[in-house]
Amino acid sequence: MNSAFYFIKQKLEKAVEHLLPAQCLLCALPSHNKLICSYCQKALSQPRACCLYCGLSLSSSQPFCGDCLKQKHLFTKLHALAGYQSPYSILIKQLKYENKLIAGELLGQLLVDSIASHFSSDEIGEFDYLIAVPLHDKKLRRRGFNQAQLIADIVSRQLKIPLLANTIERSKETQAQEGLSISKRRKNLRAAFTVNKNNLLQGKKVALLDDVVTTGATINSLCKCLLAEQVASISVFCICRTDPLRHQV
Ligand SMILES: [Zn+2]
Ligand SMILES: [Zn+2]
Repeated sequence: MNSAFYFIKQKLEKAVEHLLPAQCLLCALPSHNKLICSYCQKALSQPRACCLYCGLSLSSSQPFCGDCLKQKHLFTKLHALAGYQSPYSILIKQLKYENKLIAGELLGQLLVDSIASHFSSDEIGEFDYLIAVPLHDKKLRRRGFNQAQLIADIVSRQLKIPLLANTIERSKETQAQEGLSISKRRKNLRAAFTVNKNNLLQGKKVALLDDVVTTGATINSLCKCLLAEQVASISVFCICRTDPLRHQV
């Protein structure tokens, strides 16, 4: 039902796109049949200073943030396309709350380019599975699609990382993380995920994908679940890495 809805919606959106003049999704200049124009592409391709471990934006060119100098994470590395800032934050909202799937298409493409420029093709080829952070069934029914899954589909297709779907479930409908304090977010997510198939993940190198990572509470909860399945390593890809002390998104 959900995938049929998503499929038809995407087909309709694609059909409408062909009727419209090719305009940049961000600035409306001619984009010559691409999602964004060459000016926007150039502006968004600028490298950003960030922590090499957790992806947090940094104002200096130090390799790691203060947090990562003090503590280890359950993942090997988190790679974020950007901090929580325009135009990424706007595109995420358009995707999640206005069902604008073309925004997801653009975010997926930008993330693909960013991963390809930060990881070697050997490193990318070593991932056994790409897993989108799942939504609880109720939320999936309400929204009609999982935004992380939509972006993961694009990343999987273009970087040839096998997509593993329907293996991990969000077993508990958690309260929205937005606006909760760090400790409340962790409590909210306790034991939120379960794995459906036994031994499938044992010894595998896994990449997780989420749209926004703030405190990392969701990712950590999922990492614990995957480590219990004895995965070899976990990397994380996301669109926006938010500074939890500055934004409560
Ligand atoms: Zn543009
Ligand atoms: Zn860090």
